[in-house]
Amino acid sequence: MATHWIITDIDGCLTPEESVPWDLDGFWEFAHISRAASAGAHPVAPFILCTGRPQPYVECLMKLLDIRSPAICENGAVIYTLHDNHARYGPGVTEEKILALREVRAFIETDLLPQRPECIMQFGKEAQLSVYSEQPQVFPALMEDIAVFNQRQGGPELLINATHFYINISLAGIDKGNAIRAVAAELGLPSSAFTGIGDTVGDLAIQKNVRFFACPANAQEAVLHRADYVAPHPQVRGVLDILQHPEFQRS
Ligand SMILES: [Mg+2]
Repeated sequence: MATHWIITDIDGCLTPEESVPWDLDGFWEFAHISRAASAGAHPVAPFILCTGRPQPYVECLMKLLDIRSPAICENGAVIYTLHDNHARYGPGVTEEKILALREVRAFIETDLLPQRPECIMQFGKEAQLSVYSEQPQVFPALMEDIAVFNQRQGGPELLINATHFYINISLAGIDKGNAIRAVAAELGLPSSAFTGIGDTVGDLAIQKNVRFFACPANAQEAVLHRADYVAPHPQVRGVLDILQHPEFQRS
């Protein structure tokens, strides 16, 4: 079975999850492979980036890696193509929902955060909201206030989840899986034409929409169990190992 594209997450796979300098040698090696793959000059198939990161961050990586496919940003809420510099909302995101989300953002910024100096809004996202704090014990009360406000406004269904240091507020029904299916339809390819790489539970949406899924050694437990192949190394070193697997070659 030929692999036409490799769908890969970014953080925890190509780069460290933490806010630290990258393994430049490893990343550089990956960048050379990606560029050659995009040019059809490498046995490895070319890449589709699929990440929670906002579009400007992804745009920069697409230029470094010569990514020519549409990229999935903000966990599926935004799809971006580099050649025409065109960003658009992913499937299920409507103007009405975006306006409602902006109301929620204004409420968080003007009503909640002035009383919570330990919390800050993450900048740069269009269709998701994230609040960061190193004191996550304050999250339950904040999450409750946000849910009550949205309900009072008659806003769209929201998913309000906490990770270690973030409250993430997303529109219900928007995820990496829906966006992958939309991109696959645009490319005119079945899921069997894709393989995937990811490291966290959100990336199981990649796993469900590809023929073969691999993860680096640092992946979360639930992902390690579901992967078809687990690399012996973490992060980009793991990805470089994964790319030698026959399933990630174009034929
Ligand atoms: Mg990740």
